[in-house]
Amino acid sequence: LENDFTDIDNSLEELEELVIAAGGLVISKIVQKKENINPTYFIGKGKAEEIKLACEELDITTIVFNDELSGAQLRNLEKLIDKKIIDRTNLILDIFANRATSKEGKLQVKLAQLKYRLPRLVGFRDYLSREGGGIGTRGPGEQKLEIDRRHILREINNIERQLKEIEENRNIKRQKRLNSNLPIIALVGYTNSGKSTLLNTIVKSDSEKGDNREVFVKDMLFATLDTSLRRGSLPNGQNFLITDTVGFVSKLPTHLIEAFKGTLEEVKYADLLLHVVDASNKDLDIQIETTLDILKDLEVLDKPIITVFNKIDKVGNSNIFYSNNLIGDKVFISAKEGTNLSKLMKMIEEGIPYEYKYVLLKIP
Ligand code: GDP
Repeated sequence: LENDFTDIDNSLEELEELVIAAGGLVISKIVQKKENINPTYFIGKGKAEEIKLACEELDITTIVFNDELSGAQLRNLEKLIDKKIIDRTNLILDIFANRATSKEGKLQVKLAQLKYRLPRLVGFRDYLSREGGGIGTRGPGEQKLEIDRRHILREINNIERQLKEIEENRNIKRQKRLNSNLPIIALVGYTNSGKSTLLNTIVKSDSEKGDNREVFVKDMLFATLDTSLRRGSLPNGQNFLITDTVGFVSKLPTHLIEAFKGTLEEVKYADLLLHVVDASNKDLDIQIETTLDILKDLEVLDKPIITVFNKIDKVGNSNIFYSNNLIGDKVFISAKEGTNLSKLMKMIEEGIPYEYKYVLLKIP
């Protein structure tokens, strides 16, 4: 009903990629153009019945909505269609839950899931009281709801406490890192743009130092969930630290943005940002905008930024159309094939703030 994408097909295509990333297979796509949201079913009741029929005919087990639904809507649909109903937020949370590897990442996703569930318990009550239809069923339903609610609140509290501890630890580590006097480069950009691949390529020459572990790369959305920090060196001998960030995605659930703020804060301590863009993606303008919006929220747009158009092996740089309101310098590369990497390294050398160069000159 409301979309960041100019084209509904693109948005549905992205949703399909998300479903695949979650391990599903898309059998059928249905669009309803409607002025207003139906408060009971989100879509119209007739449409919901049509979906029910399609599920029976095509042996479909799950229905995924491209928006966030209320608890009542989820329950009502589940009751009418008699299949598992998932909304976009729930789907993204599910993918993040599967991808989280660090303790902090796992806790952050768990927290976001609990916060998503809390207001949706109300829908559960609606469903129960209608189901039973009698006074007797209402009691246990509400009691169970209250127990669930209290249980979730306790868990939220518990996780928030653990996250606070981890954050304090991170601050200590960050201080150490800042004291190391090495410039910090942060990779930012839309999910799947090639940040992990570029990170691996940039630090590869340094791997003999033994402190680099290959960053997990996968042709799936959200392969990068946790931040990781590696050391690299430039052709001029300057050492640097480089960090990856969580991949951005449009319509990221608010709880997740909240949950990942801590991790994204690493960007605030960077000296130089590499904004990686998948040049072969036809939505690159929207993706650039989404990323710049998040960087603006983080108040980091005043840092030096290099826009890195990646995957030019797929398109060639003459075929790339992008809006002209980009900030900073740009370069066209292929992280996979190594095209123009030396040019990028040169630009990084130039982009690193002056005080680090001074340190380099003083200590040959
Ligand atoms: P991230 O989510 O931004 O960290 O993206 P990844 O580094 O995981 O890359 C996503 C996918 O794009 C992977 O399948 C990579 O192999 C692929 N990829 C990355 N860089 C290039 C490139 O320069 N050219 C091509 N053709 N594919 C690339």
